[in-house]
Formats: sequence, structure tokens, C-alpha cells
Amino acid sequence: MQNFFDTKIEFLKGVGPQKAVLLNKELGIFTFGDLVQYYPFRHEDRTKFHTISEANGSMPYIQLKGRIRHYEMQGPPRKRRLKAYLVDETGEIELVWFQGAQWMLKKIQPGVEYVVYGKPNLFGSKLNIAHPEIEIASQQNLEAGYLQPVYSTTELLKRKYLDSKAIAKLQRVLLPEAVKRIKETLPVQIRERYSLMDKNESIAYVHFPETPETLQRAQFRLKFEELFYVQIRLLKLKLARIDKFKGMVFNKAELLNKFYNEHLPFELTNAQKRVIKEIYRDLRSGNQMNRLLQGDVGSGKTIVAFICMLIAIGCDTQGALMAPTEILATQHYHGLKEFADKMGLRIALLTGSTKKSERKIIHEYLRTGELHILVGTHALLEEIVQFKNLGLAIVDEQHRFGVAQRSRLWQKNEGIFPHVLVMTATPIPRTLAMTLYGDLDISTIDELPAGRKPIKTIHRYDANRLKVNSFIKEQIALGRQVYIVYPLIEESEKLDLKDLMDGYESVARAFPDVPLSILHGKMKTEAKEYEMNRFVKGETKIMVATTVIEVGVNVPNASVMIIENAERFGLAQLHQLRGRVGRGADQSYCILISNYKLSQDGRVRLETMVRTNNGFEIADTDLQLRGPGDLMGTQQSGVLDLLIADLGKDGKILQAAREAALAILDDDPTLQKEENANIKYQIASMKKSAINWSRIS
Ligand code: ADP
Ligand code: MG
Repeated sequence: MQNFFDTKIEFLKGVGPQKAVLLNKELGIFTFGDLVQYYPFRHEDRTKFHTISEANGSMPYIQLKGRIRHYEMQGPPRKRRLKAYLVDETGEIELVWFQGAQWMLKKIQPGVEYVVYGKPNLFGSKLNIAHPEIEIASQQNLEAGYLQPVYSTTELLKRKYLDSKAIAKLQRVLLPEAVKRIKETLPVQIRERYSLMDKNESIAYVHFPETPETLQRAQFRLKFEELFYVQIRLLKLKLARIDKFKGMVFNKAELLNKFYNEHLPFELTNAQKRVIKEIYRDLRSGNQMNRLLQGDVGSGKTIVAFICMLIAIGCDTQGALMAPTEILATQHYHGLKEFADKMGLRIALLTGSTKKSERKIIHEYLRTGELHILVGTHALLEEIVQFKNLGLAIVDEQHRFGVAQRSRLWQKNEGIFPHVLVMTATPIPRTLAMTLYGDLDISTIDELPAGRKPIKTIHRYDANRLKVNSFIKEQIALGRQVYIVYPLIEESEKLDLKDLMDGYESVARAFPDVPLSILHGKMKTEAKEYEMNRFVKGETKIMVATTVIEVGVNVPNASVMIIENAERFGLAQLHQLRGRVGRGADQSYCILISNYKLSQDGRVRLETMVRTNNGFEIADTDLQLRGPGDLMGTQQSGVLDLLIADLGKDGKILQAAREAALAILDDDPTLQKEENANIKYQIASMKKSAINWSRIS
């Protein structure tokens, strides 16, 4: 029998074939089920009227009633706008239309009572509402009082009369039929425990709630359910893996002890010690390790990686480290080589530009086991790269790799998979980590080595450039080096390069006697390396660059990071860039340069950077400002195609949903119990859906 929810949308009364095509194309709505789950993104609160004197700029949408005292067209012919002054007993507010002003002009009648709905904005010292909804007051709109759903639509749909109101109408046709047929998807014990609304009620109320409270409860239920199923599927994957994938047991510590006793270059921080313990526990457990190691820039992940490799090598296996770019792989190689040499271990670097003759030797020594550690780019994934026995695979900056690539690295060994450690310097807020990496265990280095001087971050406006320049001169006179970074505008690489080149010229003019380097993404690898090396060796004092230097570059003598047009960067990126300095003993500085015009978000970003060096705090702010879809690297995950939950805001619900999922699996790992039947059924029916869940394992 055809499932009601699979019915094609064209068969809904009021849709038909032509509108169906539009709904398919523009909103991805193909079936009744899709429409029911096309949730409004907000509701207009028509339950309440405010007086004009109550209105203020920080209010969301509000409803007013009043009469138009006066109206007029203003501005030059091509930028005509209509201004109308709405009054009630308490005051006056300006309504303004920039678009469709002529049309509104015909509609407006002075003296008539209107119901007006919109968002008040403070403009200078005056309040106005731009493009309000306005209707002549009637019995119905004055008294009815309801929460009206607002659906997002597209310009094309609006032109074809499928605006938000039209979609609401379709929902009103469909929902009464749909609600009767909706099956409950959460077991009763969970619904009781978390006081969740029933599924069918929540679907009805999420569209047409009676009160803000019912709306909130309906949303809570649906968010909970959505996050619950994300979590239970991730946790099931993890369980399945523990079951399926036995791990090599690494329990010999001689090499490790030798390194600790003879070559440890500094006292490890407590956080480093803790994560090494967590990892070592995994490596001895007999199960395959899949662990995420998070640590802010400069927190000392390299030595942790090396120590883990020692554990693997001490048990006659090999270690590999894969990084997303050649520059980063090369730096890792040098970092690890320093330790490897002391221990008499053989290490090699394999990237796209490794010479053929060298490659051959590397391939050979890998197979014989004479090579202990291989560092490289995704060149490591090539078929021809075969290990004798890969024990530990480390993947750095995971967000730049597809998750599929991560699993290809595992398959380097026949039979038993190597242990996998994913390292990232992009702090991920807990809520997001639990979803993105719900199948991984997480270790966090949340402490910087002692004696590090915190980077001083300063915000300066363009107008203060001369001051900034003289500061740069002082620092160079002290023997330091400086980065100057220009933003990357993705839409226009040409413009991008132009910004950089203009910048380079003005830097050259301002510092005629200072040797400069330049680095950008359009340069050939050799040219990049040549420039980078000159800077590393101290031959050049200023590095003018785009964000290519963002990842991994390590020049301890560079102590000043200047970021031009800082307002154009995201927080995660600003933080990464800042992490390029503060790597040596000197006091380091990060100077954020912007012009005076800043958006609200832009201002918050710069203030956050000035206030804190803590990557997790920054990541949290970033998540709240931008939402998870924009956070670095999360787009590709597919996990985040959430219909209603918002990881930036729903951290608490996520936490509860995860707890619930854990408790269920703890009690009934294979979901055999009768009471969990609807969970099992739901997971099975979700498997048929578009998201390929194996991608994220
Ligand atoms: P990241 O986590 O960014 O990869 P690195 O591993 O490159 O950090 O470490 C940054 C710097 O700090 C390196 O110069 C490293 O030698 C040093 N370092 C790491 N751990 C410690 C420690 N416990 N005490 C002192 N210095 C340390
Ligand atoms: Mg590093």
C-alpha cells in the first residue's frame, strides 16, 4: 500500500503539476511528508498589540495599530522611498518603503485604522519600521489573535504566488489528514522522562500553535527527536565498530620510557600527560582506537603525536601522519624528525612533489619495515603506498579531509585496522563535536605550556595606520618578524589578488629598507616554499600573505600578526591566524585593522578576539554568531542537514538527547526489546533516506 506520506505533492488540493515542479525545485518538497516537515522558521505573534511608545529597537517583530497622520515620497527619482507616520494615543513611529513605494503610495489612506506588523529599528535617534506588513484593521485581525507561521520561500515562488501565506494555506489543507496518520517515533519511557509532546501533536503545533508555550513544547519535542536519532545512530556505529574491529594491543613501553628518561625536551603539561594516558589506554585495550585529539594552536600536539607513535613503533609497527597541505606536512615532518633522530628512528616525507627516485626508496622501506614513520599529504593514500604493518594512523586538521579519506587510511592494513588518531587545532564546541564526531572518543589539550606569554590583541582603525607602521618598525628593529595578512574573498580571486598586490605595494612604500616576502595561493609550490624559507631563515622581515599561511606555519621569531580588513574574517580564521605568532619567547602581538563601518557581527568578532585567547570560547561565540553550517569544514559532513534543531542554540537539548540515546543502547544495545521497537523501525526507515550514514563513520 502506498504510504500517505510518500504521496506526490502535486496531488495535494491547491498544488497541481505546475506548482509541484516549483516546490520540488525551489524547496525540495516532493511529497506530503516533505511538506509536513517543512517547518516555519518563525511565527508572527499576532496575539498581542503593543503601543507605539512601548516599541524599541531591540524588539523582534511587533504588532501595532494606529492611523497614518501624514505620508510623503522622499529622495531622488531613482531612489524614491515612501515615508508614512503612524500614530496612536501614545506616540508616533515612521514606516518606510524603499521598494514598491509607488504601489504602497496608492494603497495608503490617511485617517483609516491599520494593523501594522514589523521589526522596529533604531535609526539615529528615531525608530522606524522598514517594509512592515500593513492591513486595514478589521474585526478579524483585531480580535482573532494567533501565531502565524512564516515559511521561507524564494523570489521565484513569491512571483508565482507561493509565498509564506500560500504555504501556510497548503499546510492547513494537509495537516488534518496528516496528523491522523503520524506514528509515534519515540518510546513512551523517553516521552515521559523528558516530558515530550506526542509526535502528531507536535507536528500540528509546530505549524499552528495556540500559544507561544505550545509552540515551544512542540519545537522541543521535534528537536529532541531529531538530535536523538543523530546520536543513536552515531553511537550504534561506534558500538558496532567496537564489536567488529579488534585492535592491535600495544603494551610494551621500553621505547616510550627511553624517550621520557633521555630525550624529553621539556616537562609535559598536565593536559598533555592526561591525553597521552587516554590514548595509551585505548592502544592497550584490544579495540581499535578512533579518537579525536583537540588542542588549540601551540598547545603541543606534535610531541603527543610523536609519543603515540613511539608506543606503536615499540610494538613493531609503523606510524603515519597525514596533513592536508604540503606546507603543513613539511612542518610536521621537521617537528617529528627532531625527536625521531634522537631516538634513532627512520622517518620520511611523502608529498606530491617528492621525486620519483625518492618515492621508490620510501615505498620499498615502508614495505620492509625499515621506515618507522611516514609523514605526508594525501599522497599517502595512493594504492602503491604499502606498509609492512601500520599500527597508528594520525590525521591532522581532519576538517580539510573528507571523512571518506580518513577511512581509506585505515584500510592500509590487511586484516586488522590501525589505530586512528584525528588531530585538530580548530577547537570545536562540545555540542558540535558530539554530533560531528559522535562516533569518536574525544581528548582535549586544554592548557598551554607554562611560561607562554599570552598574545596581546589590539583593534585599530584604518586611520591609525601610521601608528601601526611605526610599531612594526620598532619590532623589526628589535629583530622580530611580521606577518601582514589580507583577506581571501572567495567569489573573486582576481579582486583578492589585487587587494594583496595593492597591499604589498603600500607595504613596500612604507618600509623601503625592509626585505619582504609574499605568499598567495596562486603561486607554484616551489615559489611558495622559496618565499617561506626566506622568511623562516630570517632573510625577509615581513611576510605579506593571504590566508594560505593560516594552517600550521611555524616561525618562532615572528611576533607580530597584522590582519587587514579583519572584519571580513570569520572568528575561527582570525584565531588560526593569530596562532601563527606567540610561538617563541618574545611578547607577541596581533593587530586587527578594520574600517569604521562595522556590522554588529563584525564588531562582536573583533571584540571577542581582543577579549580572549581561548580557542573554545571563541569557537562557542562563532557557533552562536554563525550557526554550525558555516563553521569550518562542517558543511561536507552531511550530519548537519538538520530540519529543526540548531546546534548553536540547542546544546542542552542535544545533551539530553545524547543521554537518552546512551541509556537506551546501554540497556538494549541491539534494540531487541519490545519497548524500543519504534526506535528500531525508525532507524531502518531512515536508512533508506538520502543521507549516506556510512560516510561519517
Ligand atoms: P600545536 O599543538 O599547535 O601543533 P606544537 O606541537 O607545534 O603545537 O607546539 C608548539 C610549541 O610549543 C613547540 O615549539 C613545542 O616544542 C612547544 N611545546 C610543546 N609542549 C611543550 C611543553 N610541555 N613545554 C614547553 N614547550 C612545549
Ligand atoms: Mg601543529
